[in-house]
Amino acid sequence: MYDVIIIGAGTAGLSAAIYAVRAGKSALVLEAKAYGGQIINTPEVENYPGIKNISGFEFATGLFEQAKDAGAVIKTQGVLEVKKEADIFTVTTKRNVYESKALIIATGATNRPLGLEREKEMIGKGISYCATCDGAFFKGKDVAVIGGGNTALEDAGFLSNYCRKVYIVHRRDAFRGEPATLERLKAKENVELVLDSVSVELTGEDRVSGLEVKNVKTGELRKLDVDGIFVAIGQIPSNALFKDFVALDAAGYVVAGENCRTDVKGVFAAGDCRTKKIRQLTTAASDGAIAALEACEYIDTL
Ligand code: NAP
Repeated sequence: MYDVIIIGAGTAGLSAAIYAVRAGKSALVLEAKAYGGQIINTPEVENYPGIKNISGFEFATGLFEQAKDAGAVIKTQGVLEVKKEADIFTVTTKRNVYESKALIIATGATNRPLGLEREKEMIGKGISYCATCDGAFFKGKDVAVIGGGNTALEDAGFLSNYCRKVYIVHRRDAFRGEPATLERLKAKENVELVLDSVSVELTGEDRVSGLEVKNVKTGELRKLDVDGIFVAIGQIPSNALFKDFVALDAAGYVVAGENCRTDVKGVFAAGDCRTKKIRQLTTAASDGAIAALEACEYIDTL
């Protein structure tokens, strides 16, 4: 029996683990894949207070080690089922059944696909959702980054350091990403913004050789001769497992306020999987701290 089981070892989950353990509670973190969550794919983090510049991988590794050294138990086991009976939570994985007094959902989100024909079959053949992982394969080549958020801008900046040309294809003419990052990109000679444009077709037989885009204002079609397409158009929450367990909103995010409490007593939601406006590294870490301390307070009332 653990005090708290945390599902997900991203920034929110690992931050929750650090806070729970430091508050004297036992914490088990269950992660289906590798630790770190989405930040592991971010080439450079420059907006985490107190850290001027760090790679996402380095940040996540530090967080993982901090949680482990603090005493959290971290296991790579995907969760298959969660149940609550009386005040006890039962969490079933492929290998084991665990129990706890409180539960923190910190499952994050996964990359949203563009929805183009043959997009899936071209993954690894020119289509990528991770510039840090796959960017090096495109040294000296022309690539397109799709999206207008921070991920797209940061990926474009990273790729522009060694790709010959980087197109940023965005469906509007205003960006969600940070203006400072955008300005830096605009100053680069090998970066071109392709605005008001949506992706309509992938070209290439065995691997990507181009992307056809359509200007939504003029209807004009344009073919970009690119070897790589980096899709960075946001995320889909990874909450399917909880659809009959806690309240989710229409987009699939766990409904919880700034105190991270869900509609089920003893269940808390932290990070990108929660309903919220701002999804940042800092807000994920902040959610982790809040969810853990709220969970500790809840446990003490049992
Ligand atoms: P995002 O902010 O949700 O941006 C997604 C972008 O993709 C938007 O520009 C959106 O266009 C576009 N888009 C969505 N669906 C599309 C579609 N079907 N076709 C074409 N374009 C589409 O996602 P994100 O950039 O992955 O960032 C997610 C969160 O993580 C954000 O809060 C971001 O600030 C944060 N983040 C933070 C850091 C950091 O702190 N260093 C790094 C990366 C990400 P519209 O603008 O028209 O909706």
